[in-house]
Amino acid sequence: MLRSSIFSLTLSALAMPVIADEVNIYSYRQPELLAPLTDAFTAETGIDVNVAYLAKGMIERLQAEGDRSPADVILTVDISRLTDAVNAGVTQPVTSDVLTANVPAELRDPEGQWFGVTTRARIVYASKENVADGEITTYEDLADPKWEGRICTRSGTHAYTLALVAGMLHHHGEEETRTWLEGVKSNLSRKPQGNDRAQVKAIWAGECDISLGNTYYMGKMLEDPEQQDWANAVRITFPEFEDGGTHVNVSGIAMVKGSPNKENALKLMEFLASPAAQEIYAEANYEYPIAPGTEPTELVASWGTFTADDVSLATLGGLRADALRLMQEVDFDG
Ligand code: FE
Repeated sequence: MLRSSIFSLTLSALAMPVIADEVNIYSYRQPELLAPLTDAFTAETGIDVNVAYLAKGMIERLQAEGDRSPADVILTVDISRLTDAVNAGVTQPVTSDVLTANVPAELRDPEGQWFGVTTRARIVYASKENVADGEITTYEDLADPKWEGRICTRSGTHAYTLALVAGMLHHHGEEETRTWLEGVKSNLSRKPQGNDRAQVKAIWAGECDISLGNTYYMGKMLEDPEQQDWANAVRITFPEFEDGGTHVNVSGIAMVKGSPNKENALKLMEFLASPAAQEIYAEANYEYPIAPGTEPTELVASWGTFTADDVSLATLGGLRADALRLMQEVDFDG
C-alpha cells in the first residue's frame, strides 16, 4: 500500500526558474479514498496533487524534515492525531471564510490549526439476537451490571476509545468517569483486544452481545464477503451521553507549518471542505459530511439518525491526556 513518497520534479524547457503548480499531501488516509477528490481538484484548478501515503510516523517525519519538508497539507483521522500534530508544532493556523462556513465550529480548531471534513460516530453494535431494539440508549448504561460478561471492546488506550472517554470526562468529571470505566471493565466478556470489526465478529461468534465501534465499519464489513455475516448479526444503535448527544470524531485536514505551496494548500483545503467534496469523501469511507445542506449516502442514512454531541472536539483533545491516565489507573486492558 505504500505509495512512493518521492514527489515528481517539474521539468521545463524554459531557461528560467519554474514554480511548480502543485500541492503535496501527507496522508494517513488511503490513496483510493482520495483519488476521486484529487483528480477533481486538478481538473478544476490545474494544480497537480502529489499524495504520500504514510502508514505511521507522519509527525516524526515532518519534524525531521523541518523547513525542507515538501508537505503542504496533512490528512488524518481522529482528534488525538490532529491534536498531536498541533502540539508537535508541525501545523500552522489558517484563516478562511470558506472553511469556517463549511465546517461547524465544534469540528475545527478555534485557532484554525485543523479542520474536520467528515465525521464518524462511535456507536454500539448490538446483537440482533440477544439485545432488544432500544435496550441500550446511553454510554453511561454500558456500566450497568445487566451487561456483565456481554461487552467486547478494543484497547482502552486506542485513540477511538480515548476520545470517547474524554467525552465522558467532559460530561461527568473524573470521579464519575472512573466509576463508569470500572463498571464497563467489569462487564467485559474478554480483555480488550483487536480492532472494531473484531468485536463485531465476536458478537457474531456468540462471545459477547454489544461492542463499541465506529459507524463506517458497518459499511466496510458489508462490502467484504467474509465479513457480511458479522455485519448482519448486529444492528447499529446510537447511544447518547445522558446530558448530551452521540460521540463523534472527525477525519481532518491541517496546513503544514512550512508549507512550500501555501496558496495551493489553502485552495486544496477549501476544496476538500466544500459540500460536494465532503459528500464524495464521506461516501468513499461511509462517513458523514458536515457542511450545511450535505447528506450521507443512502446506506449510511439507513443506519438511523442521531444528534451529535455538541462538545467541541478541541475540548476533547485537551482532555485526552487525562483520559489516558485514567485508563491506566483503572488498568482497563488488564
Ligand atoms: Fe478506523
